[in-house]
Amino acid sequence: MNQHVKIDTALLIGSAFEAGQEAKESVLNPRTGALILEVPEASTAQVDRAVAAARKAFDGWSRTTPAERSAALLTIADRIEAEADAFAALEALNCGKPINAARNDEIPAIVDCFRYFAGAVRCMTGTVAGEYLSGHTSMIRRDPVGVVASIAPWNYPLMMMAWKLGPAIGGGNTVVFKPSEQTPLTALKLAHVLADVLPEGVVNVIAGRGQTVGNYLINHPGVDMISLTGDVATGKKMLDAAAKTVKRTHLELGGKAPVIVFDDADISEVVEGLRAFSFYNAGQDCTAACRVYAGKKVYDNLVADLTSAAASIVLGAEDDTTNEIGPLISQRQRDRVASFVNRARELNHVQVTTGGEAMEQGFYYRPTVVAGAKQDDEIVRREVFGPVVSVTPFSDVDDAVTWANDSDYGLASSVWTRDVGRAMATAARLRYGCTWINTHFMLTNEMPHGGLKQSGYGKDMSAYALEDYTVVRHVMVKWG
Ligand code: NAD
Repeated sequence: MNQHVKIDTALLIGSAFEAGQEAKESVLNPRTGALILEVPEASTAQVDRAVAAARKAFDGWSRTTPAERSAALLTIADRIEAEADAFAALEALNCGKPINAARNDEIPAIVDCFRYFAGAVRCMTGTVAGEYLSGHTSMIRRDPVGVVASIAPWNYPLMMMAWKLGPAIGGGNTVVFKPSEQTPLTALKLAHVLADVLPEGVVNVIAGRGQTVGNYLINHPGVDMISLTGDVATGKKMLDAAAKTVKRTHLELGGKAPVIVFDDADISEVVEGLRAFSFYNAGQDCTAACRVYAGKKVYDNLVADLTSAAASIVLGAEDDTTNEIGPLISQRQRDRVASFVNRARELNHVQVTTGGEAMEQGFYYRPTVVAGAKQDDEIVRREVFGPVVSVTPFSDVDDAVTWANDSDYGLASSVWTRDVGRAMATAARLRYGCTWINTHFMLTNEMPHGGLKQSGYGKDMSAYALEDYTVVRHVMVKWG
């Protein structure tokens, strides 16, 4: 695959492409563990120049019209669509994603994200202008925040880039973007499109590790806003960095999505849903349906059927078009997942009914069901970020809701029942940024995605994201 894909490694700083000047970071193929190539990371001087380029570009870009920014976003969308196969191949190579998932699920959603923000930026709404004091006319403006440091994770590299760039540049901000050091390849490719379409410095793309390049960037006095999708611990570092110069922050952190299955749910639909929504992207998804609470009457059947369904998931096949999920991103992540499962299986009340082991090649881990888990078990409480689902029985709805809410996380949840009243009553009690009913995982660019509690705050996608990347200003004219 390698030889069919052209791989860019240069950073975009202003309008120039240049090699990183610091240590080389190895980028591995998670299917095999083999080296794809090395990407040298940015030096502090290069980060300084990227921030300076974004600052310089802000004056002009922030004064473009919504129509002009919309046109740029539409062109970016068209360019990604035109090169969809190449972007998908690169993402599949770098992350180990099945090519069909990258090409048919992710790329269309990425293209649509840029198109959505191209429309949304022309349709922002707000309080009407008027005379709220006699003789004075007040009006509300929504203006860009300034220079945004955007920091992305490795699970959906290009999609996270789209979620961050769409509302940021749509809203008139300029950006210094840093992909994960493990998955920089599609960002460095998109940089070439961005350099063609946008004025110099509007988006800069730099590569490097979190603790070096990322840390320097978020602490930079020239940055006005930090946007992170990543781990809770990383989010806390953003808050520390932001405190120094009172930067705005937009944090999308982890998740541990509860799934409440009532006794009247259609179990075959639940199982079909969980097969997809728990294991997609090898469970490396902050909304993955990973923590199931099942009514006592359906518990046994659900565990049995979910066990066979998980065992039937195709992964690691030579013909990649048949694969449904890929490996984990790294050996470290695979070992982390394995250690969660190993600690869970030591508990007497727990049964690993399928999976629970790594595969020989690359960073693969088999889809795993952990039955009989209890609320206080680590496997129920901590984010595993792998193809692992716990199932816990409940007999009382109050227990199910209390357990579901008893989490540091608050990103996504779902409720499965045929009774619409029960579904709505339960959804109203859940403390999650999203609750799905009789489904899970489904996102659309018109609707917000974001959390409560330690899952962070700030919304991606939707008009709410544009609000997050702009500031409300009041302008008042005295005329009377
Ligand atoms: P991570 O926090 O380790 O890394 C995310 C990014 O932050 C990377 O680009 C990394 O280089 C950078 N980073 C790390 N330390 C930094 C520092 N000190 N200063 C500046 N930047 C730093 O997360 P990850 O392992 O790449 O991704 C997995 C995590 O992301 C999971 O916890 C997952 O739940 C979360 N996630 C959340 C969402 C959401 O929408 N809420 C979406 C996807 C992933």
